[in-house]
Amino acid sequence: MHVFAKRFDHKVALITGAASGIGRATALRLSAEGAVLMLADIDEAGLQQTIELLTNSESAAFIKLDVSSSEQCRAAVAATVERWGKLDVLCNIAGIAVAKHLAEVTEEDWLRMMGINLNSVFFLSQAAMPHLIATKGNIVNMASSAALVGQIYNAAYCASKGAVVMLSKSLAVEFADRGVRVNAICPGAVKTALTEKFTMPDNANMDMFMRLMPLVDMAEADEIAGSVAYLASAEARYITGTTLAIDGGQTAN
Ligand code: NAD
Repeated sequence: MHVFAKRFDHKVALITGAASGIGRATALRLSAEGAVLMLADIDEAGLQQTIELLTNSESAAFIKLDVSSSEQCRAAVAATVERWGKLDVLCNIAGIAVAKHLAEVTEEDWLRMMGINLNSVFFLSQAAMPHLIATKGNIVNMASSAALVGQIYNAAYCASKGAVVMLSKSLAVEFADRGVRVNAICPGAVKTALTEKFTMPDNANMDMFMRLMPLVDMAEADEIAGSVAYLASAEARYITGTTLAIDGGQTAN
């Protein structure tokens, strides 16, 4: 791994989705830059594996968290502050993607998508905000290119991620005067378990999405993590309410 500047020395970050993919890559990146971590995910074994991958694992703890539970979201923020004394950065990365024909999306599917992808961001941000005001901290939310353009068979996912972008902008505006920044990242297609497992109706597959990307190939998870680190760092002091597309040109096309 590269050696990065220590932009996060003495900073505490809470990262959801840290058991896999972009969340794990973000944990590795922030830790390499000096951050103290609380890693959260519903997959406890995956969290343990992430901790084992850290070179300074003594500066990291983890908590099992179902992000769709507002109660557990509040408890995770409280556990972070109790364990490490403060909170500087909240990375909302946990998420799911399920593609279906509209008629096949059950009420349970819809509510699960909103619970994991959207409600989590609201409840974690709400619980974290007083602590972020105290540290003049910031939030980075993992939205998607699906927040910016519609996608076939993906109405619930697109709606959830579109709302994450607008939630980010609204909180950025509401808390700018108290020194808290809120930004969203919109990846296109990233090589993770999510895209590996992704299936679509009518034998459509990821190739259909890949044809939309001028840069043709998929991003690596640590390429997204690099931008999480940038937006969360002091280098991005003047950036708030932005949506950074990292999509191989998909939404420019
Ligand atoms: P991933 O499947 O590798 O990781 C997602 C993580 O979220 C997993 O560790 C999973 O256990 C966790 N998670 C799922 N449900 C949860 C719950 N109820 N409570 C807590 N944790 C839960 O996928 P990824 O690609 O790393 O996705 C991370 C984020 O990036 C997601 O929000 C996803 O929508 C977004 N995203 C991914 C892509 C892509 O192409 N991979 C593109 C755009 C956006």
